Amino acid sequence: MHGFKIKMWKRGDMSWAAGLAVLEMTAGCVPGGQARAAERPNILLVVADDLGYGDVGFNGCRDIPTPALDRLAAEGVIFSNGHVAGAVCGPSRAGMLTGRYPERIGAQQNPPYAPDDPSVGVPLSEPLMAAPLQAAGYRTGAIGKWHLGSHPRFHPQRRGFDFFYGFLHGGHRYWPAEYAEFRKKIDEENPAYAYVTPLERNGTPVEETGYLTDILTREAVQFIETTQEDQPFFLYLAYNAPHVPMEAKPEDLEALAGIEDEDRRIYAAMVLAMDRGVGEVRKALGRTGRLDATWIVFLSDNGGMLRYGASNRPLRGGKNTVFEGGIRVPMFMRPAAADAASMPVGTAVPHTVSALDFYPTFLALAGAPPPEGKVLDGLNLLPHLRAGTDPRKDVPLCISPHHVRVPACRGVRLNDWKALSDRNRPWGLFDLDADLGERNNLAKSQPAKLESLRDYFDAWSAQNMEPRWVVTLP
Ligand code: CA
Repeated sequence: MHGFKIKMWKRGDMSWAAGLAVLEMTAGCVPGGQARAAERPNILLVVADDLGYGDVGFNGCRDIPTPALDRLAAEGVIFSNGHVAGAVCGPSRAGMLTGRYPERIGAQQNPPYAPDDPSVGVPLSEPLMAAPLQAAGYRTGAIGKWHLGSHPRFHPQRRGFDFFYGFLHGGHRYWPAEYAEFRKKIDEENPAYAYVTPLERNGTPVEETGYLTDILTREAVQFIETTQEDQPFFLYLAYNAPHVPMEAKPEDLEALAGIEDEDRRIYAAMVLAMDRGVGEVRKALGRTGRLDATWIVFLSDNGGMLRYGASNRPLRGGKNTVFEGGIRVPMFMRPAAADAASMPVGTAVPHTVSALDFYPTFLALAGAPPPEGKVLDGLNLLPHLRAGTDPRKDVPLCISPHHVRVPACRGVRLNDWKALSDRNRPWGLFDLDADLGERNNLAKSQPAKLESLRDYFDAWSAQNMEPRWVVTLP
């Protein structure tokens, strides 16, 4: 065990009845998703970028203060075994927002910045979670990093979002006032990898001063404040912090002067700014009287990058790998007040949860039907959280190659067992219950177990698509 101070969830110590009644009543009132707004909760989905499993207080971090996140986590359900659908940004987000394994829809690679190429983007045949929520009457907003296609046909406002502020590629410099200096170089340098692609609001480029994390917070606060009182909202707040480039505010660096390692200090200062932003968003919910009526989910899109100062302790590996450090992320879900009594709030649920699960879970919260013919690879978590059952008991969870230049990574998880081949190395087998750090390879002592997991993976993989696009740069 990792020794974090988290109260583990024990079945049967919750009173489920009250919140269950509320949820059932809400769902029952919304045939076709046409209920009155007041009966449906707001949904706030906050995503960090490359934030390490061990870099938040609620997962035991000691040197980076994350009080706003910790407070929300304490009011919610911590998913200590929360996974994402990809070990890098693009596929992880594609999986979460479509509710599909990215390998199923050809989105297992990071989409390059290709605003003139209509073939590079998460296929329009896969409606994003915003679309059915919008159709059900929610005001929908996306703020921050997109990375699901930069051609106009993939623009957030054509994918179910009423509002978009942010940038379309996979990263961005944090000081917009300095862009001009970098733009001079983009004739010789790929602008995508210079992270100077335009910032925009609803398709219109905007010029900014200030620090990008603060700017995204400002936009989120405005979105909340400008949503009509009688309309529920779904806000996807996708901070790019603490993804590269490693750029922090001087005052945040000063506040963390006690962190001696410079890389760690810069990284920590970027996390600090994001946590402060989450606190500001919480205040906006409070000011507008919406905090009690809002479900808040927080997660990172993939594991932290160790070479930039992140920590995935106690997990092995990081971003780009199929070890737990690449795909198990900080994650929690804070229910609306009326549902808190039915949820195991204040505990860390040990069951395997996937970001694939949020699509069906959010639709259930909203009482919104899925798009016609929509296939979902995730599960509605609500009945399992209410009943104390494991949503993935005997249900495998797979992860597969995501990067051409990094040799193939493959993995499959079933209950506490995990088989993986990291960068085409021989398959290993780990018992995560006994060996969270994936150090004790049981492939030789449990060959039948390994074979059964590999067989499952191969059968799953045979149904996947080839990547729709291929990245040529890391
Ligand atoms: Ca990422």
